[in-house]
Amino acid sequence: MLATFPAATPKKQKQTKPETMRALVFRGPNQIGLEQVAIPRPGPGEAIIRVTLTTICGTDLHILKGEYPVKPGLVIGHEPVGLIHEMGVGLSGYAIGDRVLVGAITPCGQCTYCLSGEWSQCGGPIGGWKFGNTINGAQAEYLLVPNAQANLAKIPDDLTDEQVVLLADIASTGISAAESGEVQIGDTVAVFAQGPIGLCATAGAKLKGAGFIIAVESDPVRAAMAKRMGADVVVDHSKTDAVEEIRRMTSGKGVDVAIEALGTQATFESALRVLRAGGTLSSLGVYSGKLSVPFEPFAAGLGNHKIVTTLCPGGKERMRRLMELVRYGRLDLRPLLTHRFALDRIAEAYKLFGERRDGVIKVAILP
Ligand SMILES: [Zn+2]
Ligand SMILES: [Zn+2]
Repeated sequence: MLATFPAATPKKQKQTKPETMRALVFRGPNQIGLEQVAIPRPGPGEAIIRVTLTTICGTDLHILKGEYPVKPGLVIGHEPVGLIHEMGVGLSGYAIGDRVLVGAITPCGQCTYCLSGEWSQCGGPIGGWKFGNTINGAQAEYLLVPNAQANLAKIPDDLTDEQVVLLADIASTGISAAESGEVQIGDTVAVFAQGPIGLCATAGAKLKGAGFIIAVESDPVRAAMAKRMGADVVVDHSKTDAVEEIRRMTSGKGVDVAIEALGTQATFESALRVLRAGGTLSSLGVYSGKLSVPFEPFAAGLGNHKIVTTLCPGGKERMRRLMELVRYGRLDLRPLLTHRFALDRIAEAYKLFGERRDGVIKVAILP
């Protein structure tokens, strides 16, 4: 057998990698636009991914309007799928070019909160949410992933980007409502509001084995989607008193678990009013201003009710588990991706999504 000689080392070619990228930058309330910014470089334990698919979240709309403050100059967005482009030292088990999903929440995996199981509260209140909040986000061509070893979830070859992108945030959040609410097999569950997260909460209730799922929604497109995601009935709160209707459907008893997926006093209160004694109110909504608990449905504090809240669970193990649901046919979120836009047209995508036109539920953004 002939000895093989190492191939002659090619002359080191001058790298022609681009140094800047397009990214959606927040400058102030209602001042947002694509800009040319430097491509990030990874420090130890960090990775850069080339984003191949992302989307816009309701939270981004709050940021755009100035309702959730972030610092001017920040790239926003927190739902990335991409290819590993560059890795800092300290990562193992990954290679350049690996296709990965990264959760909206990127826990460090090492602080007191993470090691106590509170991944999304990494480092302190809401601390796990970094992308497009405290560090640059995903509505860009490239993205720096912190604590990459804990957060890069490899995508199985048999899954497409579109099949997994919504797992980063809305599915993880929505499904978590059913998990935190500890939905039991055969439970009756009511889900208030069928926006993207509420629809995923409906899917979560079904995955957890609920016997009867009641969705509350007035928008006909979303009501139809709720059925597709697992709702048995949809109550239109614009035509009927949803609380009375749900009480009637449950023979006056109320539901085992009520999920609030909007973040208003009215829906929170309705969720409490349909709860059975000892039931759980699982709250996902983001509230602003004062939220009060009415005395009577709260049984003066003697009803053994549980009220639980959850911020989107993140980390690569969470993403892996969610991808397993998709892979084995238990969860299909593609119908929620109703529109597609190139990154260059992201302003149009924001407008459509913000105005809820054309039956939009989620938009796919392709950098
Ligand atoms: Zn989000
Ligand atoms: Zn942590």
